[in-house]
Amino acid sequence: MTLLYDLLDYNKSFVADEKYKDYVLTKSPNKKMVLVSCMDTRLTEMSFKSLGLKNGDIKHIQNAGGVISHPYGSTVRSILVAVYMLGVEEVVIMGHHDCGFGALKPEPMIEEMKKRGISENTFDVLEHSRINIKNWLQGFDSVEESVKDSVRKVHEHPLFDNNIPVHGLVIDPDNGKVDLVVDGYKKD
Ligand SMILES: [Zn+2]
Repeated sequence: MTLLYDLLDYNKSFVADEKYKDYVLTKSPNKKMVLVSCMDTRLTEMSFKSLGLKNGDIKHIQNAGGVISHPYGSTVRSILVAVYMLGVEEVVIMGHHDCGFGALKPEPMIEEMKKRGISENTFDVLEHSRINIKNWLQGFDSVEESVKDSVRKVHEHPLFDNNIPVHGLVIDPDNGKVDLVVDGYKKD
């Protein structure tokens, strides 16, 4: 495995040739928004370009599925930091069609873990600790419902400032089309 060493080699010229100068920004985003989207490689640039955003415009959090799965996990914590400490005034949750996490079934992944040496005992211990691995590794049937659920989890969070709108979007990675699923300006 040499990928990391190749990257670090490249970094030497990045610094020495001052290529970094094109990317130096201030800490505060140009647009006061945080975007939560999937880690899908197809969306690395498209989630930005499809909305006319450029490097440095917003805070961007990516995880598998672009979902909020736990109220006290690092994604929600990042949203709260963005809102309370970094001046963010709007939250956008973006799901996407053809999502690898959405299609995730726990069983094949658990099988893969066992094949790579995670013992049966480890799963038993987790089960006894009331950690439901199958739920945790379960994807979703409908991306729209997943986005709505994540929006709801942010809204219902006891530490969230509900004056901040939380929007829900779904993007199609094949053509860049973005659909509005939850309009956070409209309070229900
Ligand atoms: Zn995805």
